[in-house]
Amino acid sequence: MKQTTLRGPAVISGIALHTGNRVSLALQPAPAGTGIRFRRTDLPSGPTVAARVENVVDVQRGTTIAAGKACVHTVEHLLAALYARGVTNAFVEMAGPEPPVGDGSSVPFLEMIDRAGVRTLKASAPEVTVDHPLYLEEGETRMVVVPDAEFRISCTVKYGGSALYCQYLSIPITAETFDRELSKARTFCLYEEIEALMKANLIVGGSLDNAVVIKGDAVLSKEGLRYPDEFVRHKMLDIVGDLSLVGARLRAHVIAVRPGHPSNVALARMIREAVHVTA
Ligand SMILES: [Zn+2]
Repeated sequence: MKQTTLRGPAVISGIALHTGNRVSLALQPAPAGTGIRFRRTDLPSGPTVAARVENVVDVQRGTTIAAGKACVHTVEHLLAALYARGVTNAFVEMAGPEPPVGDGSSVPFLEMIDRAGVRTLKASAPEVTVDHPLYLEEGETRMVVVPDAEFRISCTVKYGGSALYCQYLSIPITAETFDRELSKARTFCLYEEIEALMKANLIVGGSLDNAVVIKGDAVLSKEGLRYPDEFVRHKMLDIVGDLSLVGARLRAHVIAVRPGHPSNVALARMIREAVHVTA
């Protein structure tokens, strides 16, 4: 696969999930070899941070990257959209620390990329393949990577008190399958978590417009569920975004049991250290 970038800029604005502030985000074309690079336009001299796993500084409630003063929270839904569209080089200009949450899915970011258009560059995109399995265990979470010719994710999660929320899905990750099967799946949280998040001054911008809440065996959502198994699909969307921090196109089968940002990022680190990156 060749490296790509955007044909032109695209801008969105909206509410940031954790701060509740109104923020805007602009995507800009970037030359080959740039990767995905965030720029904090609200800070003096506009410091930047590369969307690479070595820059991850926090994985609670989302993935945060930082380099010096350039700190950006909750990058995973945008990164998933860029990966799915095959965009390997872009500047992401933000006038604040967090992107707009939109509807809690990757759809607003896909729409931005489609408005901007994608342009193919001459250079080849780095690819990673694995030739032996990788295994990671953290609490109730298991992540396994096995060799495969294509990028595939198999994922299972369980929430709530009944088997209703034991969900499993296995699909190859392509532009088409991401659009159809994962892109619309929204952020969710457990009802019991909300009070602690609010006390920690997080999710100030959260509402039933941009998140689904699970309470026991009930689902609180304005529009109902977008997929009957929306939770496992959102977890897979998060895996695509977090593993894009490896900085290469993945050719491997990722098997995830109860994944979260900590395990996704730990796996991205493991992949970077253990595998072949070819350009
Ligand atoms: Zn997410």
